[in-house]
Amino acid sequence: MLSVKDLVVNYGAINAIKGISFDVNEGEIVTLIGANGAGKTTTLHAVSRLLKPKQGEISFCGQPISSMEAHKIIQLGLTQVPEGRRVFSQLTVQQNLALGAYTRKDGADAVAADYEMVFQRLPRLKERRRQIAGTLSGGEQQMLAIGRALMCKPKMLLLDEPSMGLSPLLVQEIFSIIHDVNQSGVTILLVEQNAKMALEIANRAYVLETGSIVMSGDAHELANNDQVRKAYLGG
Ligand code: ATP
Repeated sequence: MLSVKDLVVNYGAINAIKGISFDVNEGEIVTLIGANGAGKTTTLHAVSRLLKPKQGEISFCGQPISSMEAHKIIQLGLTQVPEGRRVFSQLTVQQNLALGAYTRKDGADAVAADYEMVFQRLPRLKERRRQIAGTLSGGEQQMLAIGRALMCKPKMLLLDEPSMGLSPLLVQEIFSIIHDVNQSGVTILLVEQNAKMALEIANRAYVLETGSIVMSGDAHELANNDQVRKAYLGG
């Protein structure tokens, strides 16, 4: 579904991504794990075209997207949930969700049905739909960011550190939401520093170290790999 080949991303003289290749098949949860600064966010931004790669070929559902504008990529069905949530803090929950549907062209009825789908999947958002997003808790803001992305009617979600800054209980809840979203037919590329949870939920994983993929494979096998356990799972 998503194929990335020989991706290189530089920030000026800094070579942040050094020619990585990976793919995500329809229906999968694939996770990209790695330490702080390994290049996980940079990779997602290059895929969603928030950043222009120096080199590389990226295709989504068979279409090259390497030089496509970001909003066109969303229309194709690829939506990013950014790190740190980035909800519109002055707007209500409902208004944030409405903005998620902004690029859709399939009519008001389809969009209305998807509000219901999002509220069913994330009931806390329904309770708080008139609340100003900036006053939500961190976990609720993460739910809103996922809900807003679902309003784009994505085929695939790019999730950037959804567990960041959340209490262990909320981390569980967010991962369970990610699992449900995937079960409903949305393919997921998940970037996480919480390698333990990410490997539990994912089908496959890639390990990123200073801009290069150093290991890849079945997520459960990697979770039991000595090197991965020592470096990312606290032994
Ligand atoms: P984190 O979990 O901390 O977000 P990450 O794995 O997502 O880490 P990136 O944020 O992608 O890593 O950063 C990869 C490398 O690129 C790091 O060395 C970082 O310092 C560098 N970098 C990231 N953004 C910029 C920028 N805007 N300008 C210069 N260098 C940057």
